[in-house]
Amino acid sequence: MPEGPEIRRSMDKVAAAVSGRVAERVVFGLDRHKPYEGELSGRQVESVTARGKAALVHFAGRHGDAGWTVYSHNQLYGKWRTGSAAREPKTSRQLRFAIYGAKRAARLYSASDIRIVRPDDVDSIDYIARLGPDPVNQALDAADIAGQFDDRRFAGRNLGGLLLNQAFVAGIGNYLRSDILHQAGIHPARKPRELHEDERQRLIHALLELPVQAYELAGITNDPQRAARMKEEGVSFGARRHLAFTREGKPCYGCGTRIERFVQGGRRIYLCPVCQPD
Ligand SMILES: [Zn+2]
Repeated sequence: MPEGPEIRRSMDKVAAAVSGRVAERVVFGLDRHKPYEGELSGRQVESVTARGKAALVHFAGRHGDAGWTVYSHNQLYGKWRTGSAAREPKTSRQLRFAIYGAKRAARLYSASDIRIVRPDDVDSIDYIARLGPDPVNQALDAADIAGQFDDRRFAGRNLGGLLLNQAFVAGIGNYLRSDILHQAGIHPARKPRELHEDERQRLIHALLELPVQAYELAGITNDPQRAARMKEEGVSFGARRHLAFTREGKPCYGCGTRIERFVQGGRRIYLCPVCQPD
């Protein structure tokens, strides 16, 4: 499942195709959305953004109204594609939402959760309302994350579980979970209220920085200089991409100990038993 950085990169492609342009035609695949096709067609696409794992396409106001926002959450199957407006891609997927500009189009397939709301109502969509601070899509500082550590809902729960909880910090999935904890040197069984001050600071910085780095570097959570050196040495993308994730049995970059793999909350997590003591 794509994580926050991948969703944001995918929405950047949608923005490049249609943002700032007039949506000459808007099409929805489900009957309940069809009444909005005429309502949205002919409006300018004002912006294309992401929140956590959700996408937001804002259509400009017309005749004095406030405009509309199309919210979509891809769950496991949804997929955006951009391309020529004139030629429909060959696919067996169900088209659910499409924006056709004069030349280019953005098409969303298979997504089941699509809502059309006024811009002011976006924040009350249940998924958006529950999201915690979002390092990829919001300008955050250390206090935003520290506030989550101290929140009664989260302070006594293990960090391995918390990092996948979108209410704690938005946009983190499995690879970011492993590598954020590894970079901070913290075991997934630890809890926010148990962390020493230096551990808190390391985890805050990893939570703020690694998702943004992954967004900017197409999913790379390894040290950027190390990853660049490995690329020159001919190491594959998969093998140079992460700090700990998928590196079971390989030496920790920090201390040389073999990386171990566990299953927590039904999903795999990778760590160094020396750098991340429990
Ligand atoms: Zn280590």
